[in-house]
Amino acid sequence: CGIVGYVGPQNALDVVLEGLRRLEYRGYDSAGVAVLADGRQATAKKAGKLANLEKVLADQPLPESTIGIGHTRWATHGGPTDRNAHPHLSADGRVAVIHNGIIENFAALRAECESAGVEFSSETDTEAAAHLLATTYAGTPEGPGRLAEAMRAVSRRLEGAFTLVASHADEPDTLVASRRNSPLVVGVGDGEYFLGSDVAAFIAHTREARELGQDQVVEIHRERGVTVTDFDGTVVEPTAYTVDWDA
Ligand code: GLU
Repeated sequence: CGIVGYVGPQNALDVVLEGLRRLEYRGYDSAGVAVLADGRQATAKKAGKLANLEKVLADQPLPESTIGIGHTRWATHGGPTDRNAHPHLSADGRVAVIHNGIIENFAALRAECESAGVEFSSETDTEAAAHLLATTYAGTPEGPGRLAEAMRAVSRRLEGAFTLVASHADEPDTLVASRRNSPLVVGVGDGEYFLGSDVAAFIAHTREARELGQDQVVEIHRERGVTVTDFDGTVVEPTAYTVDWDA
């Protein structure tokens, strides 16, 4: 339902939670966050209001980080439980994914993952994307843009509506995101970058926005900045605009 991502110098958890608060008006039934620290994913997720998640975070603080993602969920596949809340992790715990929308062919993708020995820990359509991204990444040649390349390959296999955002513990400076039939905007600040399901996610920090078109993938890299491509990897220029309404 609500999506936030952050890469930059600030405390990522603070930025992500602030973004999630500003997306609360959309309605949701659970919330969660993942930050990358010390070469691993650190996550917290909880059914109910953001206050419930904040209590979990107060009791079990996450390590400091400058890259993170957050989600408020409106359940479509699987009830509004802690386990079904996003982010969803790959089996090895290294990939974290948040998702808005519905992956129509998730049952076939889930069966494919299960027959390869993957055990699912939720009832969501989303979790299949996390496992697919991890295995696709493992089979993608090393080098700049590897995670984006894996995201494109996974996106080509998904049917339905999705805004997906992912991070990988092997890539502490990168977020990738993909969209089809569901919105995704990038916020560009001074040496920092944001992802949102709408500009409310980052309006407290920047008004410079880039809107992704249908069937596009964006890579946000701490040094390389923003790169947008279509699902086949052709670089495209996103629509740039300045948000002019009051925060
Ligand atoms: N279909 C996903 C789920 O049920 C995402 C729902 C949403 O858009 O929040 O977990």
